[in-house]
Amino acid sequence: MINDEKLTLLVEKIKEVLPKKESIPLHEPSFIGDEWKYVKDCIDTGWVSSVGKYVDLFEKKLADYIGVKRVVAVVNGTAALHIALKIIGVQEDDEVLMPSLTFVATANAAVYCGGVPHFVDVEERTLGLDPYKLNEYLHEIAIIKNNQCYNKITGRRIKVVVPMHTFGHPADIDPLLEVCERWKLIMVEDAAESLGSFYKNKHTGTFGKISAISFNGNKIITTGGGGAIITDDEDLADLAKHLTTTAKIPHSWEYVHDMVGYNYRMPNINAALGCAQLEQLPKFIKKKRELARKYKEALRDISGIRFFEEMHFSKSNYWLNTLILEKSFELKRDELLKALNESGIMSRPIWYPLHQLKMYKNNPKMDLSMTEKLSQQIINIPSSMGLWRGSNE
Ligand SMILES: *Cc1c(COP(=O)(O)O)cnc(C)c1O
Repeated sequence: MINDEKLTLLVEKIKEVLPKKESIPLHEPSFIGDEWKYVKDCIDTGWVSSVGKYVDLFEKKLADYIGVKRVVAVVNGTAALHIALKIIGVQEDDEVLMPSLTFVATANAAVYCGGVPHFVDVEERTLGLDPYKLNEYLHEIAIIKNNQCYNKITGRRIKVVVPMHTFGHPADIDPLLEVCERWKLIMVEDAAESLGSFYKNKHTGTFGKISAISFNGNKIITTGGGGAIITDDEDLADLAKHLTTTAKIPHSWEYVHDMVGYNYRMPNINAALGCAQLEQLPKFIKKKRELARKYKEALRDISGIRFFEEMHFSKSNYWLNTLILEKSFELKRDELLKALNESGIMSRPIWYPLHQLKMYKNNPKMDLSMTEKLSQQIINIPSSMGLWRGSNE
């Protein structure tokens, strides 16, 4: 039962934006283009798996859209992150700086390489890595030796920084790049959520030496399951392609492999779905931004609630719409989630901070007060492209 007036009003306001349906998912895919046609083509021709034209086509179209030299399509975003971190040189015992406020895959991918996730705090204005706090922290704990960064406390090398663009909102990349420069760190972006999001007019994922995107079923476009490694570095792209396709030396009939590779290649049938989805992406973004505008307007007069918006330097894809519950609301987060979900408005809190998960609770970390505060304040509300006008057009 909701008896708080404000809570009721908030639920009503959100309902006004949404179509009158019994249940509205947080995010569902839309297949309103040539998805069926391209997938059928795979089935009709028999090319559903590791050979076929759609993988090359998807990689090429995606590279054009993003404005990057090379794209390597893989089975999911986690695999993309794994390979990106591996080929950038994350080795046994290297520390990888990353937000604690991210999906668990960011940390897992570092561990797959033998690396150690080292958790960094986020900024309230972007929900992404805090460059200023990171820089101060590195002054305290890091030292440069032989042109490499080391953690004075653990003795381990700090190799990489992984900013993540939360819910599609770009992190403040320029000052982060300055921190990387000063501390001899490599940037690898977890751009899993930010296809179609730009920082200072340049696509997210193009600032890191190599970056990862996801096409999971809940992302802005989907290939069923899928991901991509993106980079401007031809050698890294060639290596990524080789490693993700079992490191087989091209030959018409012989099976010779020259490394321990991975079977991470995106199947043709998934790439076919991706090609059709990519054609729709500009439209999806337009509608998602429109939905965000409507939420913002509807919630304008409710005190204690902030609809999270893009920064002046960003253009966000508004993948998942985000509310920040301020002082007067904060303590009622779970009550609000319950009220929304019971009204058929599927909503959820942000991820449990990674430094509080059982397998990462002893990992190195800085003061994470903003992460801990925000993790209690953030909820996501329905964000599917198809909701933009209260119709399913
Ligand atoms: C979705 C996501 C991933 C992983 O992508 P999958 O395709 O689900 O493996 C990684 N990082 C973040 C931040 C994500 O949101």
